[in-house]
Amino acid sequence: MPALDVVQIPVLSDNYVYLVREPQSGAVGVVDPAVADAPLAEAKRRGWKITHILNTHHHGDHVGGNLAIKEATGCTIVGPGHDRDRIPGIDIEVNDGDSFEFGAARAEVMFVPGHTRGHIAYFFPDSQVLFVGDTLFALGCGRLFEGTPQQMWSSLSRIRNLPDGTRVYCAHEYTQSNARFALHVDGGNAALKARSAQIDALRARNQPTVPSTIGEEKATNPFLRADDPALQAAVGMAGRDPADVFGEVRKRKDNFR
Ligand code: ZN
Ligand code: FE
Repeated sequence: MPALDVVQIPVLSDNYVYLVREPQSGAVGVVDPAVADAPLAEAKRRGWKITHILNTHHHGDHVGGNLAIKEATGCTIVGPGHDRDRIPGIDIEVNDGDSFEFGAARAEVMFVPGHTRGHIAYFFPDSQVLFVGDTLFALGCGRLFEGTPQQMWSSLSRIRNLPDGTRVYCAHEYTQSNARFALHVDGGNAALKARSAQIDALRARNQPTVPSTIGEEKATNPFLRADDPALQAAVGMAGRDPADVFGEVRKRKDNFR
């Protein structure tokens, strides 16, 4: 099984749209098209034919390009069944535990509510590639617009169980400001300090900090560490329910300047 090709396209102020290609079949998916023009142009430049759109959730900066790309290419739109009424042009509804053929590759669907009530992630186990939308960010996580801390903690805990080498493709370049907050709550974490320095160096050269890996996130992302005694102690909540610790850290981030 040849590995998937992933192309990262920065659009709007801080979104990433991805082209993912399965080389054996030539299947090409656009993940969370905030806009249509940039992914259409990039696919054309590469001589790739877009066959799918993969949506993680209904927000405009993830589905804004759906209808124009479908119109231009006749592609099939895959999205969360729980949110079918909010995904423009949806053709195939997928739910937790579903898997589907993406060319010669297999995609697995994880239901990860919290940021929105219908949010899903797409995991390609053979390539260890995860498209996670706005659920997990490099050193951060999505805001809880439609879910509870309990739901989001449970979603992040499932994501955390994927293999450490899994590459995490999130939908925004928020890493540098996430790092400032992570250092604020977890400043004694040596791995976090080292990663933060790498992030500053990348951004100084205007380079992306995404993807990261599950292993890096487990070591450094405070939102994946709500059950870690060191993080719990750092926020003054030793021994507390991890979902409550997560909720407190999320609240502090919401109010952090
Ligand atoms: Zn969103
Ligand atoms: Fe977003």
